[in-house]
Amino acid sequence: MQPELEIETASASRSVGVRVLMTADRGRFSATIARVSLPRSGAPADEVLSQLEAMRAKDVDWRRGRAFSLAYFAGDEVAALAKDAYARFSSENALNTDAFPSLRRIQAEVVEMVSALVNGGDGAAGFMTTGGTESLLMAVLAARERGRKERGIAAPEMVLPTSAHAAFEKGAHYFGVKSVRVPVREDFRADVDATARAINPNTVLVVGSAPQYPQGVVDPIEALAGLAERAGVSCHVDACMGGMTLPFLERLGEPIPRWDFRVPGVTSISVDLHKYGYTAKGASVIVHRSKELRRHQTFVTQNWLGGTYGSSGVLGTKSGGAMAAAWAVMTHLGEEGYLRLTRSARATALRLADAIRATKGLRLLAEPQATLVAFTGTDGVDPFALGRSLAARGWVLDQQGPPPSLHATVNAVHERVLDEFLAELGSAVARVRGQGAGEGASSYGTVD
Ligand SMILES: *Cc1c(COP(=O)(O)O)cnc(C)c1O
Repeated sequence: MQPELEIETASASRSVGVRVLMTADRGRFSATIARVSLPRSGAPADEVLSQLEAMRAKDVDWRRGRAFSLAYFAGDEVAALAKDAYARFSSENALNTDAFPSLRRIQAEVVEMVSALVNGGDGAAGFMTTGGTESLLMAVLAARERGRKERGIAAPEMVLPTSAHAAFEKGAHYFGVKSVRVPVREDFRADVDATARAINPNTVLVVGSAPQYPQGVVDPIEALAGLAERAGVSCHVDACMGGMTLPFLERLGEPIPRWDFRVPGVTSISVDLHKYGYTAKGASVIVHRSKELRRHQTFVTQNWLGGTYGSSGVLGTKSGGAMAAAWAVMTHLGEEGYLRLTRSARATALRLADAIRATKGLRLLAEPQATLVAFTGTDGVDPFALGRSLAARGWVLDQQGPPPSLHATVNAVHERVLDEFLAELGSAVARVRGQGAGEGASSYGTVD
């Protein structure tokens, strides 16, 4: 029976709509949830593309600077280049670079460019991964394998501040490494003394971030790496955010504490390119201090009927698209391009921080050390109610905690919309003041 009525619903708490088919049979109505199956005959390409475009009607408008999370934009020209390079290599397979020497070269050059930015030196070696999460998974795996091979550790542990990214927890879960979280100090930086106390003979990894995601401050990497070195364990610096901003902020004269391979004891660093590298999604790099250390992340087997199979990361087949896009965007922007984009993002982050300081009802959690700004509400302003109120007007910030707060990842797109945003923020503060908390927080990552 043909549906009489098709309703599309989307509840406030779910991003995915549900199609409900209403049918009438002799006056009785019934409703079923529509399931999609492969269409019997295909639809024309232009029709399919217009359906896809229609689906994104409610997506956050990141090209207009509405996303202070999840998306980064360096302008139409850079985005078009990334898209073009991506499209050209989208079906090339990085699983086997013998067949695609282009991708071997692209990976090698992207890793070398990143390695130079983080002062990797001649011995450093790395791989491209599909994102910060995969880079961190590989850091955890490499540390576990190193501990097992060099020291016979069977019950590995890693010591990390409570601020270190959730992806480390995923690594602990996937690879059977115990996560020992150490509370951060008042200023949200890693507590070095408490970290020292948490290190034990089973420790394989100490983690610091530059900067950490939630409050945007740089951990005391020299002290953390020193602890790791004395204990003979790996030290990963998570520069997924800062890897493409801190080197340029340093060149711009900002006082940035040392955090990269110039610090003895740092064994690996992750740098996301699909964030402040302003390239297409699916690109990050992990650099190890040496080829020997890098060896601990690779996997090779012959234990099946298909011959030798090796891979550098989590994936098997891997699109060359994001790799080619990263190479293209980095080569196009160059140091001058990134200096310009970093200067813009930094200036905008500082203007946002100033505005928050000047607004009754808002309080900064920390002085932004790079381009991330975290703030909360005071005087009857609930931060999550504020976040929801902004979201209702199309502005997306992370709702995070503890402590309950909002998080803005400021990038180059925000310079031209900041005044508009500050006006919205001011009215949202006035709207939610005294209104209470209401519903709970939204989340930065979802499972549906
Ligand atoms: C974004 C981020 C990650 C996770 O990276 P994905 O690209 O989202 O997988 C890890 N650490 C930090 C500091 C990040 O900012």
